[in-house]
This record gives sequence, C-alpha cells and structure tokens, in this order.
Amino acid sequence: MALMLNGMGVSRGVSIGDVFILRRNQHEYIEQKISGKDLSKEIKRYKTAHSNAKKQLRKIRKEIPKESPDDVSSFIETHLLMLDDAMMASSPIELIKQNQCNAEWALKLQRDAIVKVFDSMDDPYIATRQDDVKHVFNHIMDALVSSEKTRTTDKKTQWKDRIIIADDLTPADTMIMQHSGVAGFVTEMGGPLSHTAILARSLDLPAVVGLHDARLFLKAGETLAIDGKNGLVIAEPDETLIEHFHKRQRDLRRKAKELSKLNDAKSRAKSGEKITLLANMEVEEDLKHLRKVKASGVGLYRTEFLYLQDNKIPDEEEHYKTYTRVLRALRGAPLTIRTVDLGADKEIDAVNSGPVAHNPAMGLRGIRLCLNDPSIFVPQLRAILRASAKGPVKIMFPMLSTVPELLQAKHLLETTKESMRINGYKFDEKIPLGGMIEVPAAAISASHFAEHLDFLSIGTNDLIQYTLAIDRVDDQVNYLYDPLNPAVLSLIKMVIDAGVKHKIPVTMCGEMAGNPNYTRLLLGLGLREFSMPPNSILEVKNILRQTRLSTVRRPALSFLHCTDKEKQSALLEKINS
Ligand code: PEP
Ligand code: MG
Repeated sequence: MALMLNGMGVSRGVSIGDVFILRRNQHEYIEQKISGKDLSKEIKRYKTAHSNAKKQLRKIRKEIPKESPDDVSSFIETHLLMLDDAMMASSPIELIKQNQCNAEWALKLQRDAIVKVFDSMDDPYIATRQDDVKHVFNHIMDALVSSEKTRTTDKKTQWKDRIIIADDLTPADTMIMQHSGVAGFVTEMGGPLSHTAILARSLDLPAVVGLHDARLFLKAGETLAIDGKNGLVIAEPDETLIEHFHKRQRDLRRKAKELSKLNDAKSRAKSGEKITLLANMEVEEDLKHLRKVKASGVGLYRTEFLYLQDNKIPDEEEHYKTYTRVLRALRGAPLTIRTVDLGADKEIDAVNSGPVAHNPAMGLRGIRLCLNDPSIFVPQLRAILRASAKGPVKIMFPMLSTVPELLQAKHLLETTKESMRINGYKFDEKIPLGGMIEVPAAAISASHFAEHLDFLSIGTNDLIQYTLAIDRVDDQVNYLYDPLNPAVLSLIKMVIDAGVKHKIPVTMCGEMAGNPNYTRLLLGLGLREFSMPPNSILEVKNILRQTRLSTVRRPALSFLHCTDKEKQSALLEKINS
C-alpha cells in the first residue's frame, strides 16, 4: 500500500525514482563486487587509507600538549599498534581478494568478526578494548571515505535516476547530485530558503525538505514519487498515482512550452513602463537557462559556489577565467558579481569562520569574513577588476550591516585598484559598486548606504531571516517565514525609497523577487528591477505584462499595515486578480 508523507516542497517539479538512502554522517558499508584489474586498485586503495589513518594518528600524537597526562599518548600508541597488527594491516586485504569486494565491505567483515570474538568474553576490561577496536576501524573507514569524496564516478552511477534521502545536504552535495543525474531529493532537515533549496530550484531538481524521520519510513530501493511544489512524498505509489505524476510532468512541460512564447516579448508593464528582469546564477550551467529566457543580464552571481564546488579557495586566475567565460556567454549583458558570501550554510574546509559558531548566520560570514581575511578577498577583487576590462561587470558586497564596514570594503577596493594601475592592468575605472541590503540595520539606513554606492540590491532571504529572527535553514521555525509581514515589507519600501531619493537603481535578488504571487505587490511598492532564478523569469514577465502600475500602487501600500494572515491572503488575491 502507498505511504504518504508530507514535508516542505522547495522546487516545483515532480519526479519518480528508486530510493537511495544517504547516511552522510555515518559510515556506509555497501557491498560492491570488484573484479579483474580493479581488484588490485581496490587493494591499493585500502593500503593508502590504512597508511593515511596511521599518518593521521601520528599527527594527533605529535599535537598532544606536553602537559597532558601520560594516558592520552598511551591511548594513541595503542591505536597505532592495533593499526600495525595483521588484523587491520593485512586481513582486510585478504578479504578483498577472497570476496572480490570493495575495501569498505572487507573492513566491515573483518570488524564484525573481531567484535564477535570480543562479544563472547564478558570481562568488562575486554569490553573497553572492543571500543578501541571499533575506533581504529573507524579511523581506516574515515580515510577510505575521504578518498571516496573524489571517487564521484561511483556516486554518479549509484545516484543516477534515484531519489536521494538524507538527514541534510550541503549546497556542494546538491551540485554533485545534479551532475550525477539524480531524480530528486528529500531531506529530514532544512527549510525552503537554505542554499541547498535555492540550488534545487535553480537546477530544476524536484526536492522536499524538513521531512522528519524520512529515513525511518522510507526503504532503500523502493519506488518513490515526490512533488517538489506541495512537499508530498509517496512511497510505493500504485498505477493510478504513477499515472497522476506522469500527467503532472506532462502538464509542467506543456506550461513551460506555453510560457516560452514570451522569450522574445518585451519586459514592459501593460502601462508601458520598462521592468528589468535579471537572472540569479550559482553555477555556469545557469547560463544556458538565462540565455534561453533572454534575461537582461545577471543580477546576482553567487560566487561562493566556485569555492563550494571544489571545496577550496580559487586563486585569482581561476576567478578571472570563470568571469571572462561567463561574460563571453552573456554577449554584452551586464554581470553583477557578488563577492564571496561564505559562512552560515555555505562553509568550506579551507575557510575557517571562527571557533565559536553558535549562531553562524550572525557570525563571521559574507563581507565580515572577507574583511577579516583580505587574502581571500583581494584576489577575487583583482579578478573582478581584470574581468571588467572584457565586458560590463558590476561588483556587489553581501551582508553589509554598517556604513563604516562598507567604507572599509570600499577602501580595500580602491587600494586594489591603485596597485593594479601601478602594475599596468586594465579595468573599468567606473565599475559600478552595489551593496546587498539584507540586514534590517542596513535597510533602515539604506539612504546612508546609497550615498556611497551606485546601486542597492535587496536580499529578502536574509532580510526576512534577520527581521523575524528565524534561522532560514531551521525547519522548526519555518512557519514564521513570511515575506508579507508588514515589518519586512516596510523595510523593502524604505530601501526602494532610498534608491529613488538618491537616484540609484534598486534590485531585489532574494527568492521573493521570483515568486509570481508577489510580482504585483513589489511593482506597487515601486520595485522596477527583479533578479531571480532563470526558470522563474517567464512567469514573472507574464504577470507584469498584464499589470497597469497605477492600479497596484494603492493596494500594495495597504499591505504595510496588515498584520492579519487572512486579510493578507485576501489582499493578495485581490491585487493578483
Ligand atoms: C538573500 O539573502 O536574499 C540573497 C539573495 O542572498 P543569499 O540567498 O545567497 O544569502
Ligand atoms: Mg543573503
């Protein structure tokens, strides 16, 4: 019988596929058959992992503070001795050969056999030794798993057409998944504004998040149908449900085809005003989509994905090559490069955002991280400046909270320009500089920020998070996420007004800009530039082409005073009718 579960839908597609359970934080012992010459590669893999586990333990031994009790180092010594024992050094290799299997499986067989021996003795001292044995096996397994990170080809074949079920996924995981051809994913944690969810939307990957205990109810290998719009997950759907999902897929394709007729239509309101529709991009694959829908350019390039995709800091040359490639693909359309916004849910091992991260969203992230470590920031600024000689580029700073912080970042930009001038580099001397307004303090002081900038861009994802004090990746407080909250709308209006006062453009690049339900409301509040995932552009264009701006101004203002949810829904229905 079909089992129906409900989570939060974060992208609009639907899909059907077999379940693949991913236990990211636990070791996976999956048996794989290995034969022929691959067997010697697998043995080599085990030997490397074994020797890396030893290196790791020796490193730990070296780092033990001198004042530590002797027990600490003897404990490590014991583990090192165990590693050298045949039970760990050579027996698993024999098992790989005998069973023609992968190293992880052989390690599991060996571990189970030894644990069984320990289990048969009931001396409490021996029992603690059993824990040591497990720890040492885990060291080798860790080393195997970290070498596994690079064995993505295996994942590619394992994940193709599957629906991945995991506790949580990082944006980097999501990128690997898309390349592996997964059919969709379901996570137990996370909210619709996490970067994983944003990426799923932009990659058109059906996804459901916040489905607690999903891995308890869903079994590996069973068929699953997921509805990324309504958050519905159905295990073992019957023929009727499968047909229903196939029909939904056909309907979505039909709707996309219908909307594609607007590719070349002008982006103007029915009353004639020009409205700029820009695209958000995370990865270079987005360029295909944004060209198809004829976006006017890129309003937000989330460059941190350059760091996340290889889990390392790109050097100046890598930045420069990527930006020039993107510019070439844009054929003269402007590219707004947001300087790296790492931290919070976008972490890489090479960048340490500090030891105390109880509230990482409020910690060393975005521009704070860059100002804290110019060795990350300056190479990116140099690359952006160099790229500006090749095409229209704008720079945008994320997560600004105070004007002095902006001035410090501007100063660093100016000194970078100066050193590049001295060294004969060409760049656009008038490169526009913008700031993201995504912290309430910055929204309230938008006018002061506007004095120092060429454009503002409203990041509603963070603005809503910080205004309503809800962690955007925490599904437990997600019910409070509300773009229609009058406090949020008032801040948005303040930023738009500051732009008008200082005669500088204001864009919105948070997810709210791509939600067609809010297009008229935002137009009514005075917004004229929207930046969104490319696959939302035509829907928004469709709405604005049917909108007379004079008719939405007054209804939009009434949202600013409406705290009642039912009245908000009624207002929304009215403005959209
Ligand atoms: C935002 O906060 O609205 C935004 C566009 O930036 P990000 O989602 O990358 O934090
Ligand atoms: Mg943000």
